[in-house]
Amino acid sequence: MASVPQAREGRTRTGTGGAGTGTAPVISLRGAALSYGARTVWQGLDLDVRPGEFIAVLGPNGSGKTSLVKALLGRQLLSAGTLAILGHSPREASRHIGYVPQQATLSAQAMLRARDLVRFGIDGHRFGLGLRTRAIRGRVDEILEAVGAAAYADVPLGLLSGGERQRVRIGQALATDPRILLCDEPLLSLDLNHQRAVTELIDARRRSHGTAVVFVTHEINPVLDLVDRVLYLAPGAHRVGTPDEVLTSESLSLLYDTQVDVVRVHGRVVVVGAPDEPSAQPHHAQELHESDGVRP
Ligand code: ADP
Repeated sequence: MASVPQAREGRTRTGTGGAGTGTAPVISLRGAALSYGARTVWQGLDLDVRPGEFIAVLGPNGSGKTSLVKALLGRQLLSAGTLAILGHSPREASRHIGYVPQQATLSAQAMLRARDLVRFGIDGHRFGLGLRTRAIRGRVDEILEAVGAAAYADVPLGLLSGGERQRVRIGQALATDPRILLCDEPLLSLDLNHQRAVTELIDARRRSHGTAVVFVTHEINPVLDLVDRVLYLAPGAHRVGTPDEVLTSESLSLLYDTQVDVVRVHGRVVVVGAPDEPSAQPHHAQELHESDGVRP
């Protein structure tokens, strides 16, 4: 990856930050790079995420969003730089991270009940070892209630709708009372109502507990009003800033090194002309239009 002008590197400006500006960061990346062999996915990444902050991670397919998620979960080592989570390595801090995956393939989980999945969230961490069975059951009920899933606590996941399952997965992620919620495309294939319900749950959690949210998405609009800052990963460059700083024609054109137009339609962001990497799906910008019912 050739060195890029500073304006394309993402260190240039950082936004004003969210709810927790002024407090110690829960995630701190410095000069971070991630490579697979000779292929560098991103580099020179500096980012502090503060308690209660909502960071959206955007970018076309192949730009390294999933790789960032893996790094934060301690499943992928950086090739350069540092990553501290609550001052520790990602592995040491793993119990402080609640992970909400994409609508995962269901086959292995279809027969599990909602309450089983949430219980695994508790059992899977040392946090749960000291709890007696009755206490665990109480905690599971409490969590299912909090995410609005109590009514289907005993229903196998395979019989739930996509939106209901995502509520349960958020419950599972909250089981350890995490300081960070790491959400990997949690809205994928949900209809607008369920998208809203899921984003409201996540937002409520960060407001009530100061939980920081790192939200990977190819579609900013469902969370645009909640986002404090955006990390926009593009092939060979990235940028960090508020949505107003990053999601502009000027900023994305600089980032992609070609003309990209960003327009606001009824308060929604529409990106036109963002090129994809060869490995990417062909219609990144179009996805924004179609899912919003907005046509170019
Ligand atoms: P995104 O989530 O934005 O689509 P990824 O993080 O999945 O991007 O991938 C970034 C790039 O790294 C892609 O080119 C992908 O092919 C490559 N990549 C991802 N995982 C691996 C791996 N385990 N080994 C080699 N290359 C990988």
